[in-house]
This record gives sequence, structure tokens and C-alpha cells, in this order.
Amino acid sequence: MNQEKEKTMRQILEKIGPLLRGSLSVAYKKCGKNCSTCREKGGHAATYFGYRKEGKTLVVHIPSSRVALAKKYHAEYKRLEKLIEAMTEDTVRNIKGK
Ligand SMILES: [Zn+2]
Repeated sequence: MNQEKEKTMRQILEKIGPLLRGSLSVAYKKCGKNCSTCREKGGHAATYFGYRKEGKTLVVHIPSSRVALAKKYHAEYKRLEKLIEAMTEDTVRNIKGK
């Protein structure tokens, strides 16, 4: 691919993003203080983001103040992914032999 095209693609994606490709998950951890949250909810909710980088799965903790933002960026990525899937279907239809 020529560099000019890659630059254009990056500019377009930066307008759509920030993007988060990976998965968000919630884990409940007990604090050990026998608090009401642990008793009633089974622990304190902590959000993690898992993604693959150079073949390795990395997991990072997302502070509660940024969970909404992470979900938004992740949703943007999923929308883009759906569009690419639809475009792939169209391209396959056009490129395959008849
Ligand atoms: Zn607790």
C-alpha cells in the first residue's frame, strides 16, 4: 500500500476514534473487610480491558472513572468492525468468479 493512502486511512480513523479493539470484562473482588458491598454484591466491581499485542494477550485495569469512556471507544470499534464485515461481503460478491 502506498504511504499516501495509509496516511489518509489513519486520518479517517482518527476522526472515528479513539478506538479500542479488545474486550472489556468485570471481575468482583473481595476486599477482606466484610463490608456490605462484598456481602451483598459478592465483591467490588473492577473493569479490565484485554487485548492482543504481538501475539500476546495483555490485560489492563480500567479505573472506574474511565469505564464509560472505555465502553464508548470499544463500541466505536465494534461499529467499525461491523462496517468492515459488511464491506467484505460486498467485496467477496464482486470479486468471486461467477
Ligand atoms: Zn468489600
